[in-house]
Amino acid sequence: MKKKILIVEDEVSLRGALEMKLAMEGFDILQASDGKMGLEIALAEKPDLILLDLILPKMDGITVLKELRANEAGKEIPVIILTNLNSSEMIEKAISEGSTDYLIKVDWKIDEVVEKVKGKLKD
Ligand SMILES: [Mg+2]
Repeated sequence: MKKKILIVEDEVSLRGALEMKLAMEGFDILQASDGKMGLEIALAEKPDLILLDLILPKMDGITVLKELRANEAGKEIPVIILTNLNSSEMIEKAISEGSTDYLIKVDWKIDEVVEKVKGKLKD
């Protein structure tokens, strides 16, 4: 069965690029453009992995992560944080709230995202 990945990202072009690339790699993709929608979809659909932006409308990524980890359905889902901020403080906070990994948007290449996703789904 295809692995399901939820992309929670409010930047349309970035979300689209991730969606296209990961769909080409054979994943089923779910998408949300704000944190509230992201949390709802995550709890309803229980994806195999979540790519989660930190700065989002309606509910920020850290809150999404907290709510997710507080819920039985979302406790175990690997979460890779997407962030613009090269802020070790934010990243540490995300990790302490149960994020499993992170990517800094300005640094990444889309192939690295794919490698990271595949690596996480192997664990
Ligand atoms: Mg954002």
